[in-house]
Amino acid sequence: MTQSPEQTTDKSQQFLDNHEELAPGQGFRFACHPGVPCFGACCSALNLMLTPYDALRLRRALGQSTNMGTSMSSRQFVREYADMTTMPGIGLPLLQLHMQDTSAKRCPFSRADFKCAVYENRPSACRTYPLGRATRPSEDDPARIEEQIFVIREPHCRGFEQEAQWNTASWMDDQGLAAYNASNDRFMALAASLRAQAESTGQRLGGQQTGMAGLALYQPDDFQRFLISARALERLDMDDERRAAVMSDEEACLDFGFDWLELTLLGKTDRIQPKA
Ligand code: SF4
Ligand code: SF4
Repeated sequence: MTQSPEQTTDKSQQFLDNHEELAPGQGFRFACHPGVPCFGACCSALNLMLTPYDALRLRRALGQSTNMGTSMSSRQFVREYADMTTMPGIGLPLLQLHMQDTSAKRCPFSRADFKCAVYENRPSACRTYPLGRATRPSEDDPARIEEQIFVIREPHCRGFEQEAQWNTASWMDDQGLAAYNASNDRFMALAASLRAQAESTGQRLGGQQTGMAGLALYQPDDFQRFLISARALERLDMDDERRAAVMSDEEACLDFGFDWLELTLLGKTDRIQPKA
């Protein structure tokens, strides 16, 4: 399994550049199931970065599995399952899944039978493998995201010996990646804009800005409380329906979090504007 989300750092891009790029429509053979001889071999010692949407979905899975009736709190999730780091050069927060503190360093969600305990809500990198996806804003139209798809053929992975045939579109569809890619593309577009800003000004995010970004991206439950206490939504030109969605639905809140950071860190007002 690839060891990080497809495109979170320059290092990931370099990793992908060393693999075979898949042309649109080009096929590949692959299957992963308990019948493959290597099943579960790849769910340990991973450098597995979690995008904000990955963390949201994992917290939801963990809340459901422990009968909390709601998502696990973001603070508990970070405490128990993740390490907070920042993207080099820009200071944008990035979570890394914490492998078990044993010599095998297994993923905390790898069960004794090697099945995934959070399969329906597994992270983007686990879904995307054996593909790797690199994205960048288009040079012609920065609002448009361009993608490159690579096949990551790791020598220990016997999934390539299986018969099942895929292409990029059928694999992404089968793995339920549409919602993940849509949110991750916003995350990477934000990172790309912050990198461009840092290169032109020579300044990365300050501590307070990094803290706000962590709140908006990885702690939607706490971000909702912040928005109430700061009466932040009242100062924005938004319709009531979206305001209600942001306060009641974590996915809508994360989507708003990207808008909020674009406004407060980059001065972009294409998606939300302060009231006149
Ligand atoms: S087939 Fe590949 S992805 Fe599946 S368990 Fe084996 S190594 Fe991991
Ligand atoms: S989240 Fe699931 S699929 Fe991903 S590494 Fe952990 S056990 Fe494996």
